[in-house]
Amino acid sequence: MARTFPVIDIHAHFPIEDTLPSPSLSGTVTHPALSGYAADRQARMNREWSTEPYEPPARTPEEVAAAAERWAAELDKNEIRLVNFVSANSNDKLAKIVAERPDRFTGFAHHPLLPGAGAELRRSIAMGLRGYKLLGPRTEVPFEDERVRDVWEFCAERRLPVLIHFGFLGRGGGVVSHPRMSPLSLFEVARSFPEIPFIIPHFGVNTWADVLALAWSLPNILVDTSGSNQWMRWMPYPLTLEDLFRKAYETLGPERIVFGTDSSAFPRGFSLRYLQDQLRACYTLNFHHEDIALIFGGNAARLLGIDLTDA
Ligand SMILES: [Zn+2]
Repeated sequence: MARTFPVIDIHAHFPIEDTLPSPSLSGTVTHPALSGYAADRQARMNREWSTEPYEPPARTPEEVAAAAERWAAELDKNEIRLVNFVSANSNDKLAKIVAERPDRFTGFAHHPLLPGAGAELRRSIAMGLRGYKLLGPRTEVPFEDERVRDVWEFCAERRLPVLIHFGFLGRGGGVVSHPRMSPLSLFEVARSFPEIPFIIPHFGVNTWADVLALAWSLPNILVDTSGSNQWMRWMPYPLTLEDLFRKAYETLGPERIVFGTDSSAFPRGFSLRYLQDQLRACYTLNFHHEDIALIFGGNAARLLGIDLTDA
């Protein structure tokens, strides 16, 4: 059945070496007992979600070109207008990948927030990337540090979307404690730069209550809906996908909810299952068609500067 509105996936990872999610995302998990625990949890998740083991990521230029071709075919097969990759090994590689399919792919710069990050961001945007992706629990300077203020000034001037992961990071053995675990650590910067749309992926994971507090205070806080959202299981009270959409709708409104999948590797490719689950949740909640069109494509088009009328 043809979709009646264009769908954009704001959050995917290009399957290239060094970008795949791994149990050692923290970068510090080395104890064999922890890697064994992480491997067990990964195997269990594969059974729960019927996911097959990942194919190795692309390494050579030929493999990268083949992966891009395969992604474009995924978009056609699943009737997805456009995918935004939030990482692909390096900003140069991602800029090259998206430049070859500007009507189907966009991308965000992804490099650490450190002194000098502003210059790298300007360079990446000049190459055609359209936003900035960070991981809160891997950011080693405070967001409000004077030495990175130029990053926010540039994003504000250009209205660049900034997508920052908060909450649990990784799987078994993953990070649960860090000064920038909660989106409340972004409060000062987000309040000083209301021109910057800050997108918090996966509804904020276990920091969901803090996301709602921040979004209650500030109009420039958005959520993306990507991933399995199985973090709901580790919360001390029951939550469902419908609960997340309902509360986000009530607190943020339909203009600040952005569809994503967090698709990363083949053979899965585009995770149709997450799109189907999320659409079902929104229809179950009786959201208006216009709101559903915003959540699943319109908001992303606005953030990415895509004109959907020339599709
Ligand atoms: Zn992701």
